[in-house]
Amino acid sequence: MIKSRAIVLHRFPYSDSSFIVKALTEECGVVSFIIKGAKRKESPFKGALDPLALSEVVFRQNPSTDLQFVKEASIIDWHGQLRASLMELAIAQVMAEIVLRYAPPATPIPDEFTLLDHALAELDSTASHAAGQASTDDSIFSRWLLDICDLWGYHLDLGVCSRCEKILVEPAADFSPESGSLICKHCLGVQSPRARQETLKGLWELHLHEIHPNQAVQNLSGRVFVENALLSYLRNHIGFLKEIHSLSWLQEVRKLCSAPST
Ligand SMILES: [Zn+2]
Repeated sequence: MIKSRAIVLHRFPYSDSSFIVKALTEECGVVSFIIKGAKRKESPFKGALDPLALSEVVFRQNPSTDLQFVKEASIIDWHGQLRASLMELAIAQVMAEIVLRYAPPATPIPDEFTLLDHALAELDSTASHAAGQASTDDSIFSRWLLDICDLWGYHLDLGVCSRCEKILVEPAADFSPESGSLICKHCLGVQSPRARQETLKGLWELHLHEIHPNQAVQNLSGRVFVENALLSYLRNHIGFLKEIHSLSWLQEVRKLCSAPST
């Protein structure tokens, strides 16, 4: 029997009465569970196996099958605030799908668990503060992308010019999401940059946050551009072959959220 914290990444119907749940467990990496009778009203697990829930699951790992049976599951944090916010929910779904698609199967990945656990907790608390604008943090998704790049072997150094290798003392003058190279003003010379000014400013703010982690990034410059640049960098390295379906939903939500309200 294994008892582990788990984050539910995905859930889909399997038969008339069953679900398959894919969860990132702290102990065993990504595990697929078959949940029989879960569609009945009196499901024994309540919300513990809802997508994006953080739960404690008890299961017996049967090495001869890919589908494991859950013996017990109880909620640690259902992330209710996050669910009530369209934007935070869309971001959380993209993070969960990236882990689901790219994490190695049946391999313990405790660092990925920790990163996702922290990011979901932060999104949940940002969503709960959003109404009062008190302590929102725009950089959760960007920082998670940077950390995942780092973890998967594609560390992005935001503080150094990739060409002359000098330490940057101001925002870089260009950034290439294909190679991840930042170029300083001197190295760029008279060439015109491909990256937007907001993106470069946002990447610089993320760098300053890496140096001073206690200072929250409240209004990340060019937030959407920065997120897209980092997503593009990550996907250039881990491969575009696996489609991230929830990304198109995130794009829709961004449009909805930026539309002027009447
Ligand atoms: Zn340079």
